Amino acid sequence: MENNNIGWQGKSLKQMLHESDEYIGQTGNYYGIDRLSLKQKNPFRYERAYASLRGALVSARETALHVAASPIVKEIGELCFALYSPEGDSIVVSTGILVHVHTMSEAIKFMIQEGYEEDPGINPGDIFLNNDPECGNVHTTDVQTIIPIFWRGELIGWAGGVTHQIDTGGITPGHDLVAAVQRFDDGVYYTCRKIGSNDKIWKDHMINARRSVRTPLYWELDEKCRLAGNLMIRDAVLDFIEKEGLDYYKQFIREAIEEGRRIVLKRVKERLIPGIYRAASFFDVPFKEEAWQPRAKMNKITNEPIEIIIDKDGGLSIDFEGASGPGPNPMNCGKGAMEGGQWVLLTQILIYGDKVNDGAYFAVKKNYPLGTWCNPGDPYLSYQSPWGNLIPAYTGMMKCLSFGLFSRGYREEVVPGYGFTGDAIQGGGVYSSGPLKGDRWALSTFEISGQGLGASAVRDGLDWGYAMWNPESDLGDVETWELFQGGIPYLSRKIKPNTAGHGKFRGGANYAGVAMIANSEDVDFFGARDGLSFHGSGGMHGGYPHATGYRLIAKNTNLKELIDNQEKYPLGDPDPSDGEFERMLQADITRKPYASIYPVTLNNYDMVHFALSGGPGYGDPLERQLDLIQKDLNDGIYTEDIVYNVYGAVARYDEETKNWAIEEVETAERQEELKRERENKSMTYEEFWQYERDKITQNKLGEHITRMYSESIKLSDKWRKHFLEFWDLPKNFEMEVN
Ligand code: MN
Repeated sequence: MENNNIGWQGKSLKQMLHESDEYIGQTGNYYGIDRLSLKQKNPFRYERAYASLRGALVSARETALHVAASPIVKEIGELCFALYSPEGDSIVVSTGILVHVHTMSEAIKFMIQEGYEEDPGINPGDIFLNNDPECGNVHTTDVQTIIPIFWRGELIGWAGGVTHQIDTGGITPGHDLVAAVQRFDDGVYYTCRKIGSNDKIWKDHMINARRSVRTPLYWELDEKCRLAGNLMIRDAVLDFIEKEGLDYYKQFIREAIEEGRRIVLKRVKERLIPGIYRAASFFDVPFKEEAWQPRAKMNKITNEPIEIIIDKDGGLSIDFEGASGPGPNPMNCGKGAMEGGQWVLLTQILIYGDKVNDGAYFAVKKNYPLGTWCNPGDPYLSYQSPWGNLIPAYTGMMKCLSFGLFSRGYREEVVPGYGFTGDAIQGGGVYSSGPLKGDRWALSTFEISGQGLGASAVRDGLDWGYAMWNPESDLGDVETWELFQGGIPYLSRKIKPNTAGHGKFRGGANYAGVAMIANSEDVDFFGARDGLSFHGSGGMHGGYPHATGYRLIAKNTNLKELIDNQEKYPLGDPDPSDGEFERMLQADITRKPYASIYPVTLNNYDMVHFALSGGPGYGDPLERQLDLIQKDLNDGIYTEDIVYNVYGAVARYDEETKNWAIEEVETAERQEELKRERENKSMTYEEFWQYERDKITQNKLGEHITRMYSESIKLSDKWRKHFLEFWDLPKNFEMEVN
């Protein structure tokens, strides 16, 4: 080679990336590919090639997580791997937490654009580490290891792996830090840093990394896990080239990505109807009382409106015009987070079952308006927990797509939304007694990956079994969580009644846990999820949203006495209006109507209750089959008062058979009564419009709502125009928080 360039035909990687962008810009096709020639010529060889690479990635993931991995990675598989083109476009992906596939793509492109080829150099055997949300990552907690793959001096691709860490050394222990308000609170930042050569992680890096986090053992295990998987992928790619030849590989990776792009267009045409789809979703940030930092003390509801346009050729565009501003909280999202969230959901609802790669990224147009929470344009903000906005925001996408799916007749594919993968009880402490005295434990219960899914248009939602960010969700075993968070053993895990959103088909239900502090003093404890407002876009076609979260903590309890005397203690909070905690404990009990809290200090025998999220419902609850309501009662999904009030079902409990029965005649009467009640209480559209409009014009909105609208109005002319037109407001209308 004449020069030191590592790209193809003596080109630099920057040239290759530039060419790739030009091709897609000019032709609309990936690398200008017009015809899938390899597939046409020999489809069997082409499909085998794809399957063999995919198989290699899946087995690399399975093997790596058993070679070395932290409990969170091993137990529920919080990792994934992907193979990238030289320009950083994913070709094939493993199973697992697919949210991260496009994120690593952005990191590779960052390294290319920054000229890493010259400095610090990209050589065979080099290892790069990234966890910077400004370079494609979701949050600092997700740590990516990326290695280049060379064939005879030429860079032919990249392998990348990502795991979610238990702790990254931020402002407090934990992995989604509610108290972070600026970049410097987010923990250790590795911005596409070279950390090794000749397939070995440098010692100085590992010494530094171990000292930067609170759980050094898990950090080191996960670094080894990601590197092991990447090396397996590299071996598989080199084997592939030995077998199929370099020319085939080079052509194949281009065509596989272009095919991925075309699959999206095909699916959109097949499953959706052209048009404009809109949905609204929200997330509450109740930090006026909670925050420590003066500038973070504010209450706000974040506006997350979405508009999706489907065109007749299968084009899909996603627009967040009207989104609220960013803020001194950890819920700000970079591009990587937005792409990741979108990507993992599209693979589940539209592009499942076939080639999944960055072709999907190229197929979808998007607008994340600058200066909003989804594109703040300020790297000094905190990006520690973008999930707070991402999770609700993308329920809007699910709902929009569900309207399309419904209209096309794919009623079983409808999903109006999903439970909030939150109330990850978080924090950590140090053992103050027992055999592990002096050791640090970290609270990272990842049972949050078992939430309720929304109902479809033909059946109830999945109970305790869904996470929007991981299609292979698994709530894990309590015993495993207790292994590394021994300072907060579980006292119970039980079905929590009335979490599921109501409907003809109800949303998925969920359970709640009760835990106590043991052998530990001065434990940091916090958590986050929806609370004061329904997260996401609610139910569909008359279905209700699921129950929101709340916070229940008991301090200075007499639990030790109860245990010593073998007396009963609370195992749940099935009916908050007649609380078990209040009845059975002597304690200082705190109940908060929201679930996102700053850290509090807990000590031995203090107790916490945490409920996981149900999913939204579909259709009018009065149309629900009575035998299903009966089953819900017998399964503890709903309580008697709720089925009476919402479903109009009159139920009787049979002490002998220990079963509920529905009284059909009384139920029919009660349902008629509910219909009359609806008729009497409901407003016409005009009345409702006027009622709501008065709140705007007469300044009757709360501070949190006023802040939300005022930001959206200022940040988007398009949204402002729409808002003023809809509410018939004067052109010079302004809204300010007093
Ligand atoms: Mn993560």
